Amino acid sequence: MTTEGHAPRRLPLIDARAKGPRATKPRATTAVADRHASTWRDEARAAITSLESLEARLALTDSEREGTRAAIAAGLPLSITPYYLSLIDPNDPEDPIRRQCVPRAEELRDSEGELRDPLGEEAYSPAPNLVQRYPDRALLLVTDRCSVYCRFCTRARMVGRDGGARSEERLRPAIDYLRVHPEVREVLLSGGDPLVMSTPRLVRVLELVKSVPHIDLLRIGTRAPVVLPSRITPSLCRALRSFAPLWVMTHFNHPRELTARARAACERLADHGIPVMNQTVLLRGINDEASTLDALFRGLVRARVRPYYLLQSDVMRGTAHLRTPLAKGLSLVAELQGRLSGIALPKFVVDTPGGHGKVPLVPDAIVRREPGKTWLRTWRGVEVAYPDPIEP
Ligand code: SF4
Repeated sequence: MTTEGHAPRRLPLIDARAKGPRATKPRATTAVADRHASTWRDEARAAITSLESLEARLALTDSEREGTRAAIAAGLPLSITPYYLSLIDPNDPEDPIRRQCVPRAEELRDSEGELRDPLGEEAYSPAPNLVQRYPDRALLLVTDRCSVYCRFCTRARMVGRDGGARSEERLRPAIDYLRVHPEVREVLLSGGDPLVMSTPRLVRVLELVKSVPHIDLLRIGTRAPVVLPSRITPSLCRALRSFAPLWVMTHFNHPRELTARARAACERLADHGIPVMNQTVLLRGINDEASTLDALFRGLVRARVRPYYLLQSDVMRGTAHLRTPLAKGLSLVAELQGRLSGIALPKFVVDTPGGHGKVPLVPDAIVRREPGKTWLRTWRGVEVAYPDPIEP
């Protein structure tokens, strides 16, 4: 799940019938979330999409007001579910949840090297709604809608602006392409967030992909467990289970997102035999401290979610205020190594600008090489020689 782009007019969030919850005093958001807890659709429809609704719930800064106005007029849309909003401190502009979903004026500024399509997805698109950057796997963009629009989204060029869930007809050229490319063994459903689609519609898309005989593995990229945990219903889990092997790739960025409801959503997936992996984006001022990442990764493991990637932010336009220098990520990983088990420590990865693929990065542990031995630095800082075997 990533983003980028500019459209003349902000589209309705989830559904044309969407209505913002009535404006009340700040902190009424929890009550709003509870009132709409009955169905995930009610919660999605109650998403905050206007400056007035947002202003009624949070004490906005000038920068947030300007950023929100611009986002609604022409940028990556504004949408925040009542549940996700209820996690925000209404009086703290630096709140880590708030900074992920409330626009700021900095989004209007492009920095050197930032791109509209940072992962070169348009260049690697062999059919509409399909991206293939590696020989054995492809990305199928099944919708452009999300229940929350993340301000760091790599796919902002198209998210929230291109007609909602893709019809079978619109997906047909992508499926036809997959059918004649047996080297593709794995398909990741993304968008947008595939779980904003109704379950029957999602099932139909999964059936279409599974009708291609050589597709072994399905993945779904979604933030639903994070921003709309009510979406992870038993009936959804049963439907997904019928397409095994199917993996859910979710996207927690901060330990405060691991609420009881979010953890229950992840555990529900696990209980149905669906493996859940997490991709965390490293975000400046949000999660770029070892103690924050430590708490997040440990919390994920407790919720039976495997921390899979720690992603360096993509060079998406207007995201410099959220990105960290590459060296920062490396030093965080060095700090976490040894402190977290291999299960809890994700791979630190940079997706190279232009779509050339992911590069895993590890702190350099080789101190020097000598004939027959290599000196390594351990996580404790001790230098140890590893002897090569003597050639017979
Ligand atoms: S949920 Fe994914 S696709 Fe949607 S805005 Fe967030 S990062 Fe982008």
